Amino acid sequence: MRCAIISDIHGNYDALERVIVDAMSFGSLDAIWCLGDIVGYGPNPNECVRALQECALEGTPVHAVAGNHDRAATGRISIADFNPDAAAAARWTISTLTAETRVYLDGLPERLDGTTFPILDDFTLVHGTPHDPIWDYMDSHAVAFASLAEIGTPHCLVGHTHRAEYYSLHHSGDNGPLHSSDHRSGHDDDHEPDSMEIALAPFSHGTTVAVDPGIRLVANPGSVGQPRDGLSTASYLLFETTVDGQRSLQSRRVPYNIDDVQRKMREAGLPSRLIARLRHGQ
Ligand code: ZN
Repeated sequence: MRCAIISDIHGNYDALERVIVDAMSFGSLDAIWCLGDIVGYGPNPNECVRALQECALEGTPVHAVAGNHDRAATGRISIADFNPDAAAAARWTISTLTAETRVYLDGLPERLDGTTFPILDDFTLVHGTPHDPIWDYMDSHAVAFASLAEIGTPHCLVGHTHRAEYYSLHHSGDNGPLHSSDHRSGHDDDHEPDSMEIALAPFSHGTTVAVDPGIRLVANPGSVGQPRDGLSTASYLLFETTVDGQRSLQSRRVPYNIDDVQRKMREAGLPSRLIARLRHGQ
């Protein structure tokens, strides 16, 4: 089993295309899991959806959930809560979508998990958090712990923050239910580590994390189309299962032609701050 885990493509077809090429360089993919925000910000929303549809047509199923920008693009949520640049980009995206793209985005569910789709293995897929898949951010140890307590699978995959990182919980018992009273965060250091401590670590290119029994993970692949963790390269995760049953997540960073994307954004009249941030990864 080999699967690319991608998120926050944001209409950046050039980055998505390089990511798919990179993932396929390891061999054929059994699936692509996409954690939402396929559109919004970038200049090629229709091309991004079409690329995912073509992967599926060519034999790589794509399992995708909706992000807030996908919902805004189809009018299911208001852009009133977006900042001015995001709202301007959303209005442009709405005006650009084809009917076919809109139907695809409108059909995306808010969550998927391996209890109903066995190909998703031990993972729950959401854009934000299991508690609020569209809006909430996976931005603290407490939210990560509560998420693991809430889901019906051992592991959770999220996007939305545009930062490649993972929370890990060394759980000495089985993968049974967690209780919020058990939570001890790993970021204050005035206590000894214990079996219920959750830790946060960044993914960097090539970082490989074992998906082992006894460890529960909340992993964020980072953003394909608009990274915000200080690196401008497109970010994703490769999930692999070896024949002897070892499972791992490998972080990948992939260069793409940022100049071309910025030029297309200028031609589309998209906000200059959104154009500039691609170069800085912020
Ligand atoms: Zn996003």
